[in-house]
Amino acid sequence: MKIEKYKVSDGKDFSLDDFATNDKGGYKNKDEALSDMNKNIEKIESEQDKLYAQNQKSVLLIIQAMDAAGKDGLIKHVMTGLNPQGTQVFSFKQPSAEELDHDFLWRYNKSLPERGRIGIFNRSYYEDVLVVKVHNLIEVNQYPYNKVNDKFWYNRYEHIKNYEKYLYDNGIIPVKIFLNVSKDEQKERFMSRLNDSSKNWKFSIADVKERAYWNEYQKAYQDAISATASEIAPWYIIPADKKWFARLLVSEIFLHILKGMNLEYPQISKEESARLADAKKALEEEK
Ligand code: ATP
Ligand code: MG
Repeated sequence: MKIEKYKVSDGKDFSLDDFATNDKGGYKNKDEALSDMNKNIEKIESEQDKLYAQNQKSVLLIIQAMDAAGKDGLIKHVMTGLNPQGTQVFSFKQPSAEELDHDFLWRYNKSLPERGRIGIFNRSYYEDVLVVKVHNLIEVNQYPYNKVNDKFWYNRYEHIKNYEKYLYDNGIIPVKIFLNVSKDEQKERFMSRLNDSSKNWKFSIADVKERAYWNEYQKAYQDAISATASEIAPWYIIPADKKWFARLLVSEIFLHILKGMNLEYPQISKEESARLADAKKALEEEK
C-alpha cells in the first residue's frame, strides 16, 4: 500500500479538505485488512526487538483525533504483540495545577520514551494548540511577553517544530497520526455508545459539548498540521471512518518507519566474543 498519499511533510499547501475520511485504500473488506495488519504486526515485533537490543533510538507515536475517532482501539489493536517492557503509553488529560505551573512542554518532556523504547502519546502537546486554542484556555500567567493573539499561536507552533527537531536530533523519532473521522461517523459512534449498555461507560456528556465546536476544531487542526508538518516529523492523515482501515494503515506506517531506521542487533567486540567462547567452554566442561 502507498503510504505517501497520507503523509504531510510540508504544510505549505496542506488542506484537510483534500483528505477523505472514508478511504479504504482499495481494500474490499475488514477480513482482508485484518490479515495484512496481522502480518505487519509480526514484522513490527521483530523490528521492536532490534530497537530494544540496540538501545539507541526510540520512536514517539503521537495520536491526535476528535472524540470517538478510535484512538484507544487503535492503540489496543496495533500495539498488540509488542513487548510491553519496551513500550510506554501515556494519555494526556486536562493538566493538573502543578502541570499548569510549568511551561507547556514540561509534562510531555517527562514522559518521553527511553532509548530503545516505543513511546505512545494518546493526545499530546498538540492539545495545547487545539483544545486550548479553541476554548482560549491560556491563563494570564502563561504569557509573560505577548498577548494571546496570532503571534502567540505562531510562536507555539514554532516551539513545537523546534522541539520536534530537538527530539529527532536526540534519536527520538516523532511520528504524528491524525485520525480523520467525519462528523457523521462521530455521531454514529456516539449513538452506539448510548444505545449499547456495554459501551455506555465510554460516553461522556462533554463529548457532545465539544462536538458543537466541530468547525473550530477542524480549523485548529488545519492550522496546527500545516504549521508543524516537517521532513523529520511528518503528519499522517488517516481516514478513520472505517476503523479496520485506520488500524491497518497505521500498522503499515509504523512498520515503514521502523524499517527506515535500519535497526540492527548490536555487534559484539572481538574481546567480548572471546569471553563468550571461554564461557561456553567452561559450561561444556562442567561436571
Ligand atoms: P476517551 O474519551 O476515549 O477515554 P480522551 O482522550 O478523550 O479518551 P478524556 O478523559 O475523555 O480522554 O478527555 C481528556 C480531555 O483532556 C480531552 O477533552 C482533551 O481535550 C483534554 N486535554 C488534553 N490536554 C489538554 C490540555 N493541555 N489543556 C486542556 N485540556 C486538555
Ligand atoms: Mg473523551
